[in-house]
Amino acid sequence: MTISLSGLGVTRGYAVGTARVFRRDNIEVPRYEIRAEEVHTEIARFHDALMEAKVELHSVRAQFPENVPREIASFLDTHMLMLEDSLLRDGPVKLIKSHLHNAEWALKLQRDFLVASFDEIGDSYLRTRKDDVEHVVNRVLRALLKQPPESTSISPDHLRGRIIVADDISPTEALYLHQHHVAGFVTEHGGPTSHTAILARNLGIPALVGVSMARQIVLDDDSLIIDAPSGVLLVDADDLMIVHFHGRSRALASDRAALAKLRGATATTADKLRVRLQANVEFPEDIAAAKKIGASGVGLYRTEFLFMERSDPPDEDEQYEAYARAVRAFKNAPVIIRTIDVGADKDPYNSVQTTRANNPALGLRGIRYSLREPALFKTQLRAILRASAHGPARIMFPMLSSLQELAQVTRFVEEVKAELSARRVKFNANTPLGCVIETPAAALVVERLARCVGFLSIGTNDLIQYTLAVDRTDNHVSHLYDPTHPAVLALIRSIIRAGAWANIPVAMCGEMAGDIRYTRLLLGLGLREFSVHPNVMLEVKRMIKSTNVKKLRGDIRRILACHTMQDANDVLETMNNGH
Ligand code: PEP
Ligand code: MG
Repeated sequence: MTISLSGLGVTRGYAVGTARVFRRDNIEVPRYEIRAEEVHTEIARFHDALMEAKVELHSVRAQFPENVPREIASFLDTHMLMLEDSLLRDGPVKLIKSHLHNAEWALKLQRDFLVASFDEIGDSYLRTRKDDVEHVVNRVLRALLKQPPESTSISPDHLRGRIIVADDISPTEALYLHQHHVAGFVTEHGGPTSHTAILARNLGIPALVGVSMARQIVLDDDSLIIDAPSGVLLVDADDLMIVHFHGRSRALASDRAALAKLRGATATTADKLRVRLQANVEFPEDIAAAKKIGASGVGLYRTEFLFMERSDPPDEDEQYEAYARAVRAFKNAPVIIRTIDVGADKDPYNSVQTTRANNPALGLRGIRYSLREPALFKTQLRAILRASAHGPARIMFPMLSSLQELAQVTRFVEEVKAELSARRVKFNANTPLGCVIETPAAALVVERLARCVGFLSIGTNDLIQYTLAVDRTDNHVSHLYDPTHPAVLALIRSIIRAGAWANIPVAMCGEMAGDIRYTRLLLGLGLREFSVHPNVMLEVKRMIKSTNVKKLRGDIRRILACHTMQDANDVLETMNNGH
């Protein structure tokens, strides 16, 4: 009988294969007391294990293909840095000396201490760091116990075409599994922001995380199907299902091939309205992907990612290089560089110090943080303005909620411009300034804001979270997070209208812009600039090309008049299936 288990799909594909279950129990850590005269040898044994772990990590790093994006490779750098960290190096040594613990036990105590302090924080990004500590400590423990490292010791013959089911999979294992052609993997733990999930997404491995009890239910050689888009694992799938999902995989592959043909095509609606499709980029590597897919510029450069996974913030020159590269790559198309949006669920690791707040999403984030750290803010503004000498750069500010903040920000920009002019540094003095409209306060005073800026961008990820009071990272309330809520639609419409009235461009850079369920709705509301991740750009373009905006008027009126989200979604479905 087929059993269906639910989890969180981190990629869009399907996988069909037989199960290989990793039944790795936690490493059994021995505990014994050493003699006082053995302290030095025990510490030396611990240092040797640290060195062995480091050598292993270096060799894994060396096996990475050249084209692996930086964010994938960077977790290994994080792990290497952790091996050098005094908390991990000195803590166990002190325990060996003071309590005469054996090295394994001292390391285990230190790990428990570190993990407990991460648990207290309760922040999703730092929880990912907790996984990193576990992975690093396990690597050192294995070296101390002379156990083979992770599953990278499994023979490749037992991996090809298999679906791996595990408690958790480390990023290094994920890479090893990918290199040996596993069909997909399923883990009991892990969340969508874990490095392993990011890695799976980037490498295109069909994967499900958070499938609780998977290892209790699945047996080796069971036939499995991963339906990642629906977040479902089918166990003991019958032949009919297997045929069905093979068909879906083929359809997905041929759809991707058909979409690829749209790369050079213009984003014009069926009734000849021109739409601008820009890219959201996070890492410098995304620029190449955005160019390749035919983006007409960058609508959102999330610069905070340049500050992550490192111990010091990037200096002015490093930032300038990154921004100038993006601006040069796009030559005449605009590149909108958003100043750092740290805080809430985006806390750079060590690089900038944010505070721990009870409600971080309502705390010191986005522009509030930049205004509190003038040196950091001015360094970034200098770097962006210098990059503006190479092409049409624009500066965008996140989380603005009042005209006072806009005035403060503008003063900083003027100060930096004056400094650059005094130093005779080249920059474009007319670099447009704009803001992300992502708080209800900004949306409600948008007409006034629109008079003072050069462009607007609708940040629906936060606008929806703050308007509906639904934490965007909390899966207990995710069913309430609905872009078709009448309050959200009313705000989106008024922002687009305010832009038209002030004669400035309005784009949307939140995830709603990249979700084809909403493309027609947004076109009907008057949106003509979409900024989306390069991965979804061609799907959105296809939807735009198949839409006759003039014919949408009746449906848009009906959606705006709906009382419930259910009614709005019904009209949306009719609208998406028509034309
Ligand atoms: C948004 O809030 O919609 C947005 C684009 O910004 P971020 O997701 O980075 O908060
Ligand atoms: Mg936002």
